[in-house]
Amino acid sequence: MKNAVELLLNWYLQNRRMLPWRRDTDPYHVWISEIMLQQTRIEAVIDYYERFMKKVPSIQALSEISEDELLKLWQGLGYYSRARNLKKAAVQIMEKHEGIFPDNYADILSLPGIGEYTAGAIGSISFGLKEVAIDGNVMRVFTRVTGRDLDISDLKVKKEIGEEIKKILPKNSGDFNQGIMELGEVICIPNGMPKCDICPLKDVCVAHRNNLELSIPRKILKKEKQEEEYTLFLMVCKDKIALRKRTSGLLKNMWEFPNESGFLTYDEILEKIPSIQELSLSMTHTHIFTHKKWFMNSYYMEVEKELEGYVWVTLDEILEQYALPSAFTPFLKVFYKK
Ligand code: SF4
Repeated sequence: MKNAVELLLNWYLQNRRMLPWRRDTDPYHVWISEIMLQQTRIEAVIDYYERFMKKVPSIQALSEISEDELLKLWQGLGYYSRARNLKKAAVQIMEKHEGIFPDNYADILSLPGIGEYTAGAIGSISFGLKEVAIDGNVMRVFTRVTGRDLDISDLKVKKEIGEEIKKILPKNSGDFNQGIMELGEVICIPNGMPKCDICPLKDVCVAHRNNLELSIPRKILKKEKQEEEYTLFLMVCKDKIALRKRTSGLLKNMWEFPNESGFLTYDEILEKIPSIQELSLSMTHTHIFTHKKWFMNSYYMEVEKELEGYVWVTLDEILEQYALPSAFTPFLKVFYKK
């Protein structure tokens, strides 16, 4: 792997993608981009990042933003606890570090929502700290280059890889960390054949030399996603639509259309909401989370009076002010049509 360092650095410096958060190494910019990039593709993050920076250009602005505004900016990126932790961390930086992003690993790691990977990325990119940032891309490249058939879902293996990479980290650790991640994203890809013929490491890569690119790292069978069924009530009173806030579990504190577990029949719905004037079966949608799959049926229903227990808002208000998770946004088109 030592032989790969120089090759990787040269390749990265010549080929790196010019992304908005790479215009400088400001820790605020690196931090926000790293959190947005967790579980989300780079192409999808670019617009969100630009929009976020326009509205929330500094740590201070982030510490002062209202939760509703923050979640609205985050709408569509999912994993909303990431956004809430950003604000908590910004408040912590204002209170404990006089508004200046901390420049040592322990203080960075102590911020809410920042784990070892993100602390390593910010520390190395913004402050040149000799810290690693180990993710799936890095572990894939490492195991292939060294030809080691390891189970990279094992936390012990992850730790060992981190320790080995730390030993060979060059002075410009940020470029190395970004380079190995980028190589894993665009050349030494996870699904299908890696693009070894254009890889800067092909002459030193053990997996490539032995035609083992597809069997390293060891494939682990994924756990089946838990499946759940729901019935959504797309409830309307004149031009107002019923929403409510989720009080627990997945997407806690986010807005949702009223719903019940299971697929309900017409009769079961009429039993729950007797004042319905018009009721029709509407669209279905399946939403896939990391560990769960939601199958959702929906009913469009008109009621005479605004029932208690919900907020009643117009479609424009939903679009402008209410952060509706992407699990529910497909159902908005039912109201466009009416
Ligand atoms: S040569 Fe192929 S397997 Fe080896 S690091 Fe490059 S892309 Fe990955």
